Amino acid sequence: MPEPSTLADIVPFEDEAGDVIAKARAGLGLPRAQVAGRTGLPETRLAAWESLAEPLPADAADDLGRCLDLRGGALAALANGTSRPEPLAEPDDGWQTLRCTLSEATGGYASNTWIVWQPASRTAWVVDPGFRPEVPRAWLNREHVTLRGILVTHGHRDHVGGAGWLSGETGAPVFLHPRDHALARASGVEGPLLHPDALRDPDVRHLPTPGHTPGGCTWRLGTRLFPGDTMFACSLGRTFGGPTDHPEHRSSLARLLKEPEETLLLPGHGPGTTVGRERAANPFAKETTAGPS
Ligand SMILES: [Zn+2]
Repeated sequence: MPEPSTLADIVPFEDEAGDVIAKARAGLGLPRAQVAGRTGLPETRLAAWESLAEPLPADAADDLGRCLDLRGGALAALANGTSRPEPLAEPDDGWQTLRCTLSEATGGYASNTWIVWQPASRTAWVVDPGFRPEVPRAWLNREHVTLRGILVTHGHRDHVGGAGWLSGETGAPVFLHPRDHALARASGVEGPLLHPDALRDPDVRHLPTPGHTPGGCTWRLGTRLFPGDTMFACSLGRTFGGPTDHPEHRSSLARLLKEPEETLLLPGHGPGTTVGRERAANPFAKETTAGPS
């Protein structure tokens, strides 16, 4: 059984510079040929940068940034390795954060399940039990920690797939925005799904962050935010839908980056980060998103 890790453990970025370019291009609905036409960059090199076959030069990062509404400097820093994941410090608020990075039994595609627990009360919340919910279940059992609720950021299977099972095992309720319930049902999730507004607990809040999915929401526990795929360290999740989804997704990211700079962002894939780091290093962050901290 895999052991959960702490915030001090470093894992690689979910996305490289090529992924950021491809996501920005897809979000804006721009074929590669059109980006090549607008920037004057050769289409073959664009393909090579997206597939990481060639390193992205800084001047090309600037050109692409202007075309794709990305911050060229942040894109170049991601490409040349100046931006890198860093360990995070646990806030001194009596809660402890654990990460289980889990994949299906077959295939290497992995997502983060977070356990936030309070040693004083020996209670916990689990965020996004997607794959292998028996792993957080085994940890809770072993540590004699009671699960208070299951907080799901959105209805994709790699985030919600294990929620019904974990709820059945523990009796803990599952909270997911109703606009994503159909997605969760399509992922095979059974049992009650409650509106986030139904969660009345002074320790946990949520804020709507649609874009990656219509019902995406970010869970807040103290100075920790769990945005699911609304953002990743130095990137964001894929946008699937129509032309309004990408702008909505970017607005949701901008909203998160208005939080105080020390706020932790603990996403659905890849390493955790902070609002301050993302304001500086995320290519999708707008210069204007920096708010008072
Ligand atoms: Zn997703």
